[in-house]
Amino acid sequence: MSQPRVRHILSLSGGKDSTALAIYMRDRVPEMEYVFCDTGEELPETYAYLRKIEAFLGKNITVLNPDRPFSHYLDIYRGVLPDAKTRWCTRMLKIKPFERYVGNDLVFSYIAIRADEVHRKGYISSKSNITPVYPFIDDGITKTDVYRILEESGIGFPDYYKWRSRSGCYFCFFQRRIEWVGLLENHPDLFDKARGFEKFDPETGERFTWNQRESLDELSRPERMEEIKASRQNCLKNEEKKGLIDIFFEDNNDDDQPCLICHL
Ligand code: SF4
Repeated sequence: MSQPRVRHILSLSGGKDSTALAIYMRDRVPEMEYVFCDTGEELPETYAYLRKIEAFLGKNITVLNPDRPFSHYLDIYRGVLPDAKTRWCTRMLKIKPFERYVGNDLVFSYIAIRADEVHRKGYISSKSNITPVYPFIDDGITKTDVYRILEESGIGFPDYYKWRSRSGCYFCFFQRRIEWVGLLENHPDLFDKARGFEKFDPETGERFTWNQRESLDELSRPERMEEIKASRQNCLKNEEKKGLIDIFFEDNNDDDQPCLICHL
C-alpha cells in the first residue's frame, strides 16, 4: 500500500497575521502550499492584497471555491443569515473547501495565532490527518513582531484596514457598526448587496438581519451614521488617553471570537 503524501499548507485569510506567517515561513518551509478560501463574497482590497503576497512569495496562491455560492446555502437555511453561534458560512464556504483540498493526505496546517494570544480558540479541523502547527506561538512572535514583519517585507497592511479591522466577507456579521458605515462609504454597491440579503416577514414580524439590533436600512440613515461616527470618535479619544491605540482598530475586544480561517 502506498504511503499517504505529506504536505505543508498555510491558509491565508487576507488578514495581517496569516500574511505575516506566510512571509515568515517562506524560506523556512520552501515546499509550503498557500491557499485562500474564496467565499465569492470578499472585498476587492483582499484580492489586491493577495496579489501583493503572491509577488513576495514568488508562488501562486491556490484559490479554493465552495461547491455553491452563499445565496444557495442561504436558501437551504431558509433565509436565516449566519451569526456568531451558527457560523454556517464558515463551515460551508471556508472549511469544507479546505478539507476537500487536503483530502486524505497527511497535512501540517500552519495557523497564525500569535504568542500574545495563546488563549485564542477557533476552528481546527477534526480530521485526524490534519495536524495544526503554530510557528508564532512556538517562536514567541507577538503583534509587534507581526507589524515589523509586514513593514520590512514591503507588503504592509491590507487597504481595508483604513476602515475595517478584519479580513473576511464584506457582509461579515462580526463587523462593528462603524465598519458597516465604512462599507457603505467605501463600497456602497457591496453594502446594498448585504442589505439585499436581509429579509422581513410582515405577517410574522420575523426579521433576518446581519445585526440583531438594527437592520442595514436603519443603520444607513444619515442621522444614525453620524451617531455611530461620533461614538467611535469618543471611543478613540478615550483609548488614546489610555494609550491603547496602536492601529486604527484594536484587534478585538469582543466576546465572540471570529473564525480563525476567516480572520487571522
Ligand atoms: S468572514 Fe464572516 S461571513 Fe464570511 S465566512 Fe467567515 S464568519 Fe462567515
